[in-house]
Amino acid sequence: MKPKVFVTRQIPEIGLARVREVCEMTLWENELPASYEHLIERVRGMDGILCTLTERIDAALMDAAGSQLKVISQMAVGYDNIDVRAAHARGVPVGNTPGVLTDATADLAFALLLSAARRLSESVQYIRDGQWITWKPLDLLGADLSGATLGIVGLGRIGQAVAKRASGFDMRILANSRNLSDEQAWEHNATRVELSTLLRESDFVSLHIPLSPETRHLINRETLAQMKRNAILINTTRGGTVDQLALYEALRDGIIAGAALDVTDPEPIPLDDPLLTLPNALIVPHIGSATVKTRNKMALMAAENLIAGVKGRLLPNEVKVK
Ligand code: NAP
Repeated sequence: MKPKVFVTRQIPEIGLARVREVCEMTLWENELPASYEHLIERVRGMDGILCTLTERIDAALMDAAGSQLKVISQMAVGYDNIDVRAAHARGVPVGNTPGVLTDATADLAFALLLSAARRLSESVQYIRDGQWITWKPLDLLGADLSGATLGIVGLGRIGQAVAKRASGFDMRILANSRNLSDEQAWEHNATRVELSTLLRESDFVSLHIPLSPETRHLINRETLAQMKRNAILINTTRGGTVDQLALYEALRDGIIAGAALDVTDPEPIPLDDPLLTLPNALIVPHIGSATVKTRNKMALMAAENLIAGVKGRLLPNEVKVK
């Protein structure tokens, strides 16, 4: 008998086809994610769950699935929506998809950095509002990248890929990470500094830490106040790393110059969120890994983790809690 698995979202067909080869698959086919109550119903009796960041996978849900549950496979590198400790306490490994989305996410972080520096969304709006009546020497002036300082918070896979891009733009790079030596930082053309130094000296601050109790609201009223008034914050990690109200006030009051966000808290950002009223806040809908090639790789990797788990084998990519 084939193992039973529940796939919580429509993911690229290449991943679904691989899961179908080995498993009896139930797929949540709606465009919107299942409510928590629906999830609890659907996971009952499943040997494996393939999920995405839109699902909360907690201890109660694991218990609802039952003691036969063998694996939770997340189609993302971040796993802050999953209670990994609760899974491990039940002997259930958790898989994720590191590496395959590094370049796509770093590209997006850099696209946001460039767009915010050169005020692209304001410039598009400027034309639509009929303001382009002539070339003006003093309109829509932005910031240079060359010679500017980029502060990377979290010099892991994506942070390093962002450093590589920044080196090509002749930026000075500062980095802060949990376990980082001077030598490791130099390998990425970066200088290791304390977070407060990074915030004080950077023209651009880009976040690449995972969301955890330690990093929740790392960017808050106090840390924003340490940043330069011309600074631009880029966030492609998780919305919860930034206190969004404090960010709104800092952007409104000129404490920092701009922000470019791929992620918000909550997601989707409510249409009446005050951040959406600010011209110096550029927000896109969590598209960091959204390229055809990358999403296909993520789907296949998540499928392979799921299959290994239901067969009782080691997952090719298993989350280890430090
Ligand atoms: P990674 O390789 O694990 O890098 C994370 C880095 O952050 C590591 O160097 C880690 O240091 C450091 N770190 C962890 N906690 C820290 C803290 N409290 N202070 C300072 N540094 C800390 O992960 P990744 O593959 O680069 O992914 C990073 C995050 O990006 C993911 O967790 C995910 O949330 C997000 N992401 C978003 C998108 C998107 O679509 N926008 C796509 C992919 C990923 P240690 O090595 O010492 O732990």
